Amino acid sequence: MALNIQGANITARGSPNGQAPACDHLDLVPAAAHGPAECAQCLALGLAWTSLRACLTCGWVACSDESPGGHARRHYEETDHPVVTSLEPDMTRRWCYVHGPIA
Ligand SMILES: [Zn+2]
Ligand SMILES: [Zn+2]
Ligand SMILES: [Zn+2]
Repeated sequence: MALNIQGANITARGSPNGQAPACDHLDLVPAAAHGPAECAQCLALGLAWTSLRACLTCGWVACSDESPGGHARRHYEETDHPVVTSLEPDMTRRWCYVHGPIA
């Protein structure tokens, strides 16, 4: 049936399923130099952090989600700066709070 073939073609073209949305935020960030490797908010509150993240948009350094403070995510919520990098020496991968890990 001609109708069925046409329908299949439209479906195949219109929905590239199985492909995770790529993070396009990296195009927007200039990879600013980051500040000292410490979470200023944790220092002010007397909290200890597990690991640190640096915001690639403005260079703000804050603690990761695993830390009690979770200040890096708080920074994203307040500023809409979604891309951070790890400050751990053995972990240099980047993370987008919208899209997840960036390869
Ligand atoms: Zn993203
Ligand atoms: Zn913190
Ligand atoms: Zn920022």
